[in-house]
Amino acid sequence: MDTIHLPRDIIIVGAGIAGIACALALSHEVSPYVPDLKIKIYERHDILSTSGGAINLTPVAQRHLAQLGVLEELDRMGSEGGAEVDAISLYSIRSGRSIGSIGFVDHHGNGYGGFKGRRVMRIVLSMAMLTLAERTPNIELIFGKKVVGGEETESNAVVHFKDGTKAVGDLVIGCDGVHSAVRTSWVDPGSPSEYTGISFLQATVPTDSISSRIHFRSSALNISRHGSMLTSYCDRDREQIFAAATVQFSQDDLSYYRMEPGQDWATQHRIKCALRREIRDRFSKTAIPCIREIVNSEADWMLYPVHQVPPGGKWSTNRVILLGDAAHAMPPRDESAAYALDDAILFARILVRYRSEPLSEVFDAYESMRRDTIENAFKESHRMWDRNRDMGMLEGRLKEWLMPFYLRSNRDKREAAWEFDAAKITIPTPAPSEDLVSLNSFLKEHTA
Ligand SMILES: Cc1cc2nc3c(=O)[nH]c(=O)nc-3n(C[C@H](O)[C@H](O)[C@H](O)COP(=O)(O)OP(=O)(O)OC[C@H]3O[C@@H](n4cnc5c(N)ncnc54)[C@H](O)[C@@H]3O)c2cc1C
Repeated sequence: MDTIHLPRDIIIVGAGIAGIACALALSHEVSPYVPDLKIKIYERHDILSTSGGAINLTPVAQRHLAQLGVLEELDRMGSEGGAEVDAISLYSIRSGRSIGSIGFVDHHGNGYGGFKGRRVMRIVLSMAMLTLAERTPNIELIFGKKVVGGEETESNAVVHFKDGTKAVGDLVIGCDGVHSAVRTSWVDPGSPSEYTGISFLQATVPTDSISSRIHFRSSALNISRHGSMLTSYCDRDREQIFAAATVQFSQDDLSYYRMEPGQDWATQHRIKCALRREIRDRFSKTAIPCIREIVNSEADWMLYPVHQVPPGGKWSTNRVILLGDAAHAMPPRDESAAYALDDAILFARILVRYRSEPLSEVFDAYESMRRDTIENAFKESHRMWDRNRDMGMLEGRLKEWLMPFYLRSNRDKREAAWEFDAAKITIPTPAPSEDLVSLNSFLKEHTA
């Protein structure tokens, strides 16, 4: 019988989408082989908290959340569990003209592989994931533990926390997001995150505060030459509209608009007014009455600068691997959370498939299955984000005219991507180890 090399004490850094999904997937895949498996998730915040408003889940993300049991938990939350999105309709802010749509349903109105899109508040998704993790016996979540670095020996890895304590494990998985300390202080110190030049401005507006006709069914991307404005319901009962502007913002301006804990009332008031002005300057010249109302409302907009991790960096050492944004944060498209979920499910499956191999082989197999997909996604997200930078009048019109062609030409690629299932994709068999190769050739030579 083959020796099993599976880790028994697994440390996950970060309780975001990748971290919790990874813990759930590992518990499911590894515990049949390692009954005393222990998975500890260390999270820097003292309580569950997220940055950003609502998140769009593609059919792939929904399928993976269903496989992990999270979707059922979300559905149990009632209206807050999110709004179903069957398409994101595109409009020109300037003329109000419809310029296409990104559909999450096939020609028969069915979701891909049974799943459509969903827009849900981030905190609600995190609560659903956390509830499930807390119910899973071999997962423990420890809050208030900020990782600052680590080191590894032949037999284990040691994680260091800001409070001076440490934890020891057989395998460390860095799921600590775009500014990952596991990446920058351990796995690949030469690869800090960088600002993309684009930021999100987000707010939530009660639907009944808008008197004009709402121009979209579930979600709309309203484009202009000064960026784009997403408007979407984010709860099943459609009581809240989530609005997110994607706009060009210079790095120098960020500090002027940044809300920090502990700021006095006057500073916060100045920032809120400045952000409202920013939104009005960019989007109030619109032929869509509902957008005009949202833009001119007294909503509190929050600024989220978007950072990325340039591709090509290191993802692993001997006992540590990075997953999710920690490895490959890119300008977020609707797919980014799906990539974090794919990572988690694929990694857990590869670990078990390669259970007789050392961790280095597991990491190599994972990277060889993931690198190309991630690097192509990175390039594609850059092409898409480039359309959100500020443009002159002519270039802006050209963007509107070309959008329907772009949507049509990418439709097949998009739909194929939504069929992806990390739980089913074939994982290559481990290559025979050198010992086995020599044994095989020995046997061949001696039986010939
Ligand atoms: C504004 C915004 C909007 C987005 N919208 C969408 C969308 O609509 N659809 C989509 O698919 N994707 C979207 N994305 C991208 C998506 O949110 C990310 O791809 C996804 O959250 C990545 O998950 P993650 O677990 O890798 O990282 P994160 O979600 O960032 O989680 C990292 C976790 O690690 C913790 N942590 C960080 N440092 C440490 C440390 N040193 N020690 C311990 N814990 C630590 C953090 O507190 C956090 O809990 C958006 C991103 C942004 C910024």
